[in-house]
Amino acid sequence: MIIDLRSDTVTKPTQGMLNAMMKAKVGDDVFREDETVNILEDKIAKMFGKEKALFFPSGTMANQTALKLHTNPGDQVICDKYAHIYNYESGGASFNSGISCKLIDGNRGMFDSNQVIEAINPSAYYYSKTSLVEIENTTNKGGGACWNFDEILKIKKVCDENNLRFHLDGARLWNALVAKNQSAEQYGKVFDTISVCLSKGLGCPVGSLLVGNSEIMNGALRIRKIFGGNMRQAGYIAAAGLYALDNNIERLKDDHKRAKEIEESLCELTFIKSVELVETNIVIFELNDDVDEALFLKKLADNNIYIISMGGRKLRMVTHLDYTELKHEELLKQLKSL
Ligand SMILES: *Cc1c(COP(=O)(O)O)cnc(C)c1O
Repeated sequence: MIIDLRSDTVTKPTQGMLNAMMKAKVGDDVFREDETVNILEDKIAKMFGKEKALFFPSGTMANQTALKLHTNPGDQVICDKYAHIYNYESGGASFNSGISCKLIDGNRGMFDSNQVIEAINPSAYYYSKTSLVEIENTTNKGGGACWNFDEILKIKKVCDENNLRFHLDGARLWNALVAKNQSAEQYGKVFDTISVCLSKGLGCPVGSLLVGNSEIMNGALRIRKIFGGNMRQAGYIAAAGLYALDNNIERLKDDHKRAKEIEESLCELTFIKSVELVETNIVIFELNDDVDEALFLKKLADNNIYIISMGGRKLRMVTHLDYTELKHEELLKQLKSL
Protein backbone atom coordinates (compact mmCIF):
# COMPACT_ATOMS: atom_id res chain seq x y z
CA MET A 1 0.00 0.00 0.00
CA ILE A 2 1.46 3.35 -1.05
CA ILE A 3 0.37 6.39 0.93
CA ASP A 4 1.15 9.43 -1.17
CA LEU A 5 0.43 12.67 0.68
CA ARG A 6 2.82 14.91 -1.27
CA SER A 7 -0.04 16.77 -2.94
CA ASP A 8 -3.70 16.54 -3.88
CA THR A 9 -2.54 16.53 -7.50
CA VAL A 10 -1.36 12.91 -7.38
CA THR A 11 -4.89 11.51 -7.83
CA LYS A 12 -5.75 9.37 -10.84
CA PRO A 13 -9.15 9.48 -12.57
CA THR A 14 -11.70 7.05 -11.16
CA GLN A 15 -13.60 4.60 -13.39
CA GLY A 16 -16.66 6.84 -13.22
CA MET A 17 -14.64 9.82 -14.39
CA LEU A 18 -13.00 7.80 -17.17
CA ASN A 19 -16.43 6.64 -18.36
CA ALA A 20 -17.62 10.24 -18.52
CA MET A 21 -14.49 11.19 -20.48
CA MET A 22 -14.98 8.35 -22.98
CA LYS A 23 -18.51 9.51 -23.73
CA ALA A 24 -17.66 13.18 -24.24
CA LYS A 25 -18.89 14.94 -27.37
CA VAL A 26 -15.94 16.90 -28.73
CA GLY A 27 -14.99 19.33 -31.48
CA ASP A 28 -12.18 21.73 -32.29
CA ASP A 29 -12.05 24.15 -29.41
CA VAL A 30 -9.88 26.58 -31.37
CA PHE A 31 -12.99 27.06 -33.51
CA ARG A 32 -14.86 27.12 -30.17
CA GLU A 33 -16.77 24.06 -31.37
CA ASP A 34 -16.13 21.67 -28.53
CA GLU A 35 -19.53 21.10 -27.00
CA THR A 36 -18.23 19.71 -23.73
CA VAL A 37 -15.75 22.54 -23.18
CA ASN A 38 -18.54 25.03 -23.85
CA ILE A 39 -20.83 23.30 -21.35
CA LEU A 40 -18.10 23.29 -18.69
CA GLU A 41 -17.28 26.97 -19.25
CA ASP A 42 -20.96 27.95 -19.08
CA LYS A 43 -21.50 25.88 -15.97
CA ILE A 44 -18.56 27.40 -14.10
CA ALA A 45 -19.45 30.94 -15.21
CA LYS A 46 -23.00 30.41 -13.90
CA MET A 47 -21.78 28.96 -10.60
CA PHE A 48 -19.83 32.17 -9.98
CA GLY A 49 -22.53 34.45 -11.39
CA LYS A 50 -20.08 35.70 -14.03
CA GLU A 51 -20.57 36.14 -17.77
CA LYS A 52 -17.63 34.10 -18.99
CA ALA A 53 -15.27 31.30 -18.11
CA LEU A 54 -12.32 29.99 -20.10
CA PHE A 55 -10.79 26.52 -19.83
CA PHE A 56 -7.00 26.34 -19.32
CA PRO A 57 -4.47 23.51 -19.25
CA SER A 58 -3.09 24.70 -15.90
CA GLY A 59 -3.79 26.94 -12.95
CA THR A 60 -0.54 28.73 -13.59
CA MET A 61 -1.69 29.71 -17.07
CA ALA A 62 -5.07 30.86 -15.75
CA ASN A 63 -3.39 33.04 -13.11
CA GLN A 64 -0.83 34.38 -15.56
CA THR A 65 -3.59 35.28 -17.98
CA ALA A 66 -5.39 37.15 -15.20
CA LEU A 67 -2.23 39.10 -14.34
CA LYS A 68 -1.85 40.03 -18.01
CA LEU A 69 -5.49 41.08 -18.31
CA HIS A 70 -5.34 43.37 -15.30
CA THR A 71 -1.98 45.07 -15.74
CA ASN A 72 0.40 46.88 -18.07
CA PRO A 73 4.19 46.43 -18.09
CA GLY A 74 5.73 48.34 -15.18
CA ASP A 75 2.67 47.93 -12.98
CA GLN A 76 2.71 46.30 -9.56
CA VAL A 77 0.48 43.62 -8.04
CA ILE A 78 -0.05 43.45 -4.29
CA CYS A 79 0.06 39.90 -2.93
CA ASP A 80 1.20 37.94 0.10
CA LYS A 81 4.82 36.82 0.43
CA TYR A 82 3.52 33.23 0.28
CA ALA A 83 1.53 33.79 -2.95
CA HIS A 84 1.64 31.09 -5.59
CA ILE A 85 1.93 33.75 -8.32
CA TYR A 86 5.11 34.99 -6.65
CA ASN A 87 6.70 31.75 -5.43
CA TYR A 88 5.64 28.96 -7.75
CA GLU A 89 4.98 30.38 -11.20
CA SER A 90 8.60 30.54 -12.35
CA GLY A 91 8.77 34.32 -12.28
CA GLY A 92 5.95 34.48 -14.80
CA ALA A 93 4.58 37.78 -13.48
CA SER A 94 7.72 39.55 -14.65
CA PHE A 95 8.33 37.32 -17.68
CA ASN A 96 4.83 37.47 -19.14
CA SER A 97 3.44 40.76 -17.92
CA GLY A 98 6.50 42.82 -17.02
CA ILE A 99 5.10 43.53 -13.57
CA SER A 100 6.55 43.40 -10.06
CA CYS A 101 5.01 42.04 -6.88
CA LYS A 102 4.64 44.12 -3.72
CA LEU A 103 4.77 41.48 -1.04
CA ILE A 104 2.73 41.75 2.12
CA ASP A 105 4.12 40.11 5.24
CA GLY A 106 0.90 38.34 6.10
CA ASN A 107 -0.17 35.56 8.40
CA ARG A 108 -0.36 32.11 6.78
CA GLY A 109 -0.74 33.75 3.37
CA MET A 110 -3.46 36.17 4.48
CA PHE A 111 -3.46 39.87 5.31
CA ASP A 112 -5.88 42.67 6.13
CA SER A 113 -7.21 45.71 4.34
CA ASN A 114 -4.93 48.11 6.24
CA GLN A 115 -1.91 46.25 4.95
CA VAL A 116 -3.28 46.66 1.44
CA ILE A 117 -3.69 50.41 1.96
CA GLU A 118 -0.06 50.62 3.13
CA ALA A 119 1.13 48.65 0.11
CA ILE A 120 -0.47 50.89 -2.51
CA ASN A 121 2.11 53.13 -4.14
CA PRO A 122 1.59 56.91 -4.23
CA SER A 123 0.59 58.14 -7.67
CA ALA A 124 3.84 60.06 -8.34
CA TYR A 125 5.27 59.02 -11.70
CA TYR A 126 8.47 57.54 -10.29
CA TYR A 127 6.60 54.80 -8.44
CA SER A 128 5.39 51.71 -10.23
CA LYS A 129 1.66 51.84 -10.69
CA THR A 130 -0.31 49.61 -8.32
CA SER A 131 -3.08 48.12 -10.42
CA LEU A 132 -4.05 44.79 -8.89
CA VAL A 133 -4.55 43.00 -5.59
CA GLU A 134 -4.29 39.21 -5.61
CA ILE A 135 -5.22 36.77 -2.86
CA GLU A 136 -5.30 33.00 -2.55
CA ASN A 137 -8.09 30.94 -0.94
CA THR A 138 -7.31 28.49 0.46
CA THR A 139 -3.69 29.46 0.91
CA ASN A 140 -1.24 26.84 -0.31
CA LYS A 141 2.00 27.75 1.46
CA GLY A 142 -0.19 29.02 4.33
CA GLY A 143 -1.30 25.44 5.01
CA GLY A 144 -4.80 25.42 3.52
CA ALA A 145 -5.97 28.33 5.66
CA CYS A 146 -9.28 30.00 4.73
CA TRP A 147 -9.78 33.74 4.51
CA ASN A 148 -12.32 35.53 6.64
CA PHE A 149 -14.91 36.68 4.10
CA ASP A 150 -15.50 40.00 5.89
CA GLU A 151 -11.81 40.84 5.41
CA ILE A 152 -12.14 40.05 1.71
CA LEU A 153 -15.05 42.51 1.53
CA LYS A 154 -12.94 45.18 3.25
CA ILE A 155 -10.13 44.64 0.75
CA LYS A 156 -12.65 44.88 -2.09
CA LYS A 157 -13.69 48.27 -0.76
CA VAL A 158 -10.05 49.42 -0.76
CA CYS A 159 -9.72 48.16 -4.35
CA ASP A 160 -12.81 50.11 -5.42
CA GLU A 161 -11.62 53.29 -3.71
CA ASN A 162 -8.21 53.05 -5.36
CA ASN A 163 -9.24 51.83 -8.77
CA LEU A 164 -7.51 48.46 -8.34
CA ARG A 165 -8.58 45.17 -9.87
CA PHE A 166 -9.02 42.16 -7.57
CA HIS A 167 -8.02 38.61 -8.57
CA LEU A 168 -8.59 35.41 -6.58
CA ASP A 169 -6.30 32.43 -7.03
CA GLY A 170 -8.90 29.84 -6.15
CA ALA A 171 -6.93 26.71 -7.00
CA ARG A 172 -8.39 25.25 -3.79
CA LEU A 173 -11.42 27.50 -3.45
CA TRP A 174 -13.62 24.36 -3.48
CA ASN A 175 -12.04 23.37 -0.17
CA ALA A 176 -12.83 26.76 1.34
CA LEU A 177 -16.43 26.65 0.08
CA VAL A 178 -16.99 23.26 1.71
CA ALA A 179 -15.10 24.07 4.92
CA LYS A 180 -16.82 27.42 5.45
CA ASN A 181 -20.18 26.58 3.89
CA GLN A 182 -19.84 29.41 1.36
CA SER A 183 -21.05 29.76 -2.23
CA ALA A 184 -19.13 30.32 -5.45
CA GLU A 185 -21.55 33.12 -6.21
CA GLN A 186 -20.57 35.19 -3.19
CA TYR A 187 -16.97 35.11 -4.43
CA GLY A 188 -18.08 35.96 -7.96
CA LYS A 189 -19.68 39.15 -6.64
CA VAL A 190 -16.41 40.39 -5.15
CA PHE A 191 -13.63 39.49 -7.56
CA ASP A 192 -12.95 40.70 -11.09
CA THR A 193 -11.45 37.33 -11.98
CA ILE A 194 -11.17 33.98 -10.22
CA SER A 195 -9.07 30.98 -11.22
CA VAL A 196 -10.15 27.52 -10.08
CA CYS A 197 -8.41 24.14 -10.43
CA LEU A 198 -10.02 20.86 -11.39
CA SER A 199 -6.85 18.83 -10.96
CA LYS A 200 -6.37 19.25 -7.21
CA GLY A 201 -9.07 18.26 -4.73
CA LEU A 202 -11.55 17.49 -7.50
CA GLY A 203 -9.40 14.69 -8.88
CA CYS A 204 -9.27 15.54 -12.60
CA PRO A 205 -6.18 14.77 -14.65
CA VAL A 206 -5.92 18.29 -16.13
CA GLY A 207 -7.63 21.64 -16.12
CA SER A 208 -8.30 25.01 -14.60
CA LEU A 209 -10.71 27.80 -15.45
CA LEU A 210 -10.64 31.56 -15.25
CA VAL A 211 -13.96 33.35 -14.72
CA GLY A 212 -14.91 36.99 -15.06
CA ASN A 213 -17.26 39.31 -16.87
CA SER A 214 -17.09 39.76 -20.66
CA GLU A 215 -15.48 43.17 -20.57
CA ILE A 216 -12.39 41.71 -18.90
CA MET A 217 -12.54 38.17 -20.26
CA ASN A 218 -12.75 39.15 -23.92
CA GLY A 219 -8.97 39.49 -23.98
CA ALA A 220 -8.40 36.13 -22.30
CA LEU A 221 -8.76 33.99 -25.41
CA ARG A 222 -6.00 35.90 -27.20
CA ILE A 223 -3.69 35.76 -24.18
CA ARG A 224 -4.28 32.03 -23.75
CA LYS A 225 -3.27 31.61 -27.39
CA ILE A 226 -0.14 33.71 -26.91
CA PHE A 227 0.78 31.57 -23.89
CA GLY A 228 0.41 28.46 -26.04
CA GLY A 229 -2.70 27.25 -24.25
CA ASN A 230 -5.07 26.63 -27.15
CA MET A 231 -6.40 23.08 -27.15
CA ARG A 232 -8.35 21.12 -29.75
CA GLN A 233 -10.66 18.27 -28.67
CA ALA A 234 -10.33 19.32 -25.05
CA GLY A 235 -13.84 18.05 -24.33
CA TYR A 236 -12.36 14.76 -23.15
CA ILE A 237 -10.71 16.52 -20.24
CA ALA A 238 -13.56 19.01 -19.78
CA ALA A 239 -15.84 15.98 -19.28
CA ALA A 240 -13.70 14.99 -16.31
CA GLY A 241 -14.32 18.47 -14.91
CA LEU A 242 -18.09 18.21 -15.34
CA TYR A 243 -18.03 14.82 -13.65
CA ALA A 244 -15.96 16.21 -10.77
CA LEU A 245 -18.26 19.18 -10.20
CA ASP A 246 -21.17 16.77 -9.79
CA ASN A 247 -19.42 14.10 -7.76
CA ASN A 248 -16.29 15.31 -6.00
CA ILE A 249 -17.05 18.59 -4.24
CA GLU A 250 -19.12 17.43 -1.26
CA ARG A 251 -16.64 14.66 -0.47
CA LEU A 252 -13.90 17.23 0.23
CA LYS A 253 -15.21 17.22 3.78
CA ASP A 254 -13.78 13.69 4.12
CA ASP A 255 -10.34 15.02 3.14
CA HIS A 256 -10.73 17.78 5.73
CA LYS A 257 -11.75 15.37 8.46
CA ARG A 258 -8.78 13.11 7.76
CA ALA A 259 -6.37 16.05 7.69
CA LYS A 260 -7.72 17.14 11.07
CA GLU A 261 -7.15 13.65 12.46
CA ILE A 262 -3.59 13.66 11.11
CA GLU A 263 -3.06 17.00 12.86
CA GLU A 264 -4.27 15.48 16.13
CA SER A 265 -2.00 12.46 15.74
CA LEU A 266 1.03 14.60 14.97
CA CYS A 267 0.37 16.77 18.01
CA GLU A 268 0.85 13.72 20.20
CA LEU A 269 4.32 12.92 18.86
CA THR A 270 7.11 14.16 21.11
CA PHE A 271 9.63 14.80 18.29
CA ILE A 272 7.28 17.23 16.54
CA LYS A 273 7.71 20.87 17.45
CA SER A 274 4.53 22.34 16.04
CA VAL A 275 1.59 21.65 13.74
CA GLU A 276 -0.24 24.48 12.00
CA LEU A 277 -3.97 24.66 12.62
CA VAL A 278 -5.70 22.50 10.02
CA GLU A 279 -8.76 24.04 8.36
CA THR A 280 -8.95 22.08 5.11
CA ASN A 281 -6.85 19.34 3.49
CA ILE A 282 -3.29 20.57 4.12
CA VAL A 283 -1.21 19.71 7.19
CA ILE A 284 2.01 21.64 7.75
CA PHE A 285 4.28 20.75 10.64
CA GLU A 286 7.79 21.18 11.96
CA LEU A 287 10.12 18.68 13.57
CA ASN A 288 12.09 19.40 16.73
CA ASP A 289 15.41 21.11 16.00
CA ASP A 290 17.42 18.00 16.88
CA VAL A 291 15.51 15.72 14.49
CA ASP A 292 17.12 15.10 11.10
CA GLU A 293 14.53 15.98 8.46
CA ALA A 294 16.03 13.84 5.67
CA LEU A 295 16.19 10.86 7.99
CA PHE A 296 12.55 11.36 9.02
CA LEU A 297 11.42 11.54 5.38
CA LYS A 298 13.43 8.42 4.59
CA LYS A 299 11.91 6.53 7.47
CA LEU A 300 8.43 7.39 6.19
CA ALA A 301 9.40 6.46 2.62
CA ASP A 302 10.72 3.10 3.84
CA ASN A 303 7.16 2.50 5.02
CA ASN A 304 5.69 3.66 1.68
CA ILE A 305 4.57 7.00 3.08
CA TYR A 306 5.46 10.00 0.97
CA ILE A 307 5.26 13.63 2.09
CA ILE A 308 7.20 16.72 1.02
CA SER A 309 9.42 19.35 2.51
CA MET A 310 8.32 22.95 2.00
CA GLY A 311 11.74 24.33 2.92
CA GLY A 312 12.53 26.18 6.13
CA ARG A 313 12.06 22.91 8.06
CA LYS A 314 8.36 22.82 7.22
CA LEU A 315 6.88 19.51 6.11
CA ARG A 316 3.58 19.08 4.31
CA MET A 317 0.92 16.40 3.96
CA VAL A 318 -2.13 16.85 1.73
CA THR A 319 -5.19 14.61 1.85
CA HIS A 320 -7.12 13.83 -1.33
CA LEU A 321 -9.49 11.59 -3.26
CA ASP A 322 -7.05 8.67 -3.51
CA TYR A 323 -6.20 8.81 0.19
CA THR A 324 -8.80 6.31 1.32
CA GLU A 325 -10.06 5.49 4.80
CA LEU A 326 -7.97 2.32 4.68
CA LYS A 327 -4.81 4.31 3.95
CA HIS A 328 -5.77 6.81 6.61
CA GLU A 329 -6.04 4.12 9.29
CA GLU A 330 -2.70 2.71 8.20
CA LEU A 331 -1.06 6.14 8.35
CA LEU A 332 -2.38 6.87 11.85
CA LYS A 333 -1.11 3.48 12.96
CA GLN A 334 2.33 4.10 11.42
CA LEU A 335 2.57 7.57 12.98
CA LYS A 336 1.91 6.12 16.43
CA SER A 337 4.70 3.60 16.02
CA LEU A 338 7.35 6.09 14.90
C1 LIG B 1 -1.60 24.40 -7.73
C2 LIG B 1 -1.84 25.82 -7.60
C3 LIG B 1 -1.96 26.65 -8.73
C4 LIG B 1 -1.86 26.16 -10.14
O1 LIG B 1 -0.95 25.21 -10.39
P1 LIG B 1 -0.82 24.36 -11.72
O2 LIG B 1 0.06 23.27 -11.28
O3 LIG B 1 -0.24 25.25 -12.73
O4 LIG B 1 -2.18 23.89 -12.14
C5 LIG B 1 -2.21 27.98 -8.52
N1 LIG B 1 -2.36 28.47 -7.29
C6 LIG B 1 -2.28 27.72 -6.19
C7 LIG B 1 -2.50 28.35 -4.86
C8 LIG B 1 -2.01 26.37 -6.30
O5 LIG B 1 -1.93 25.63 -5.19
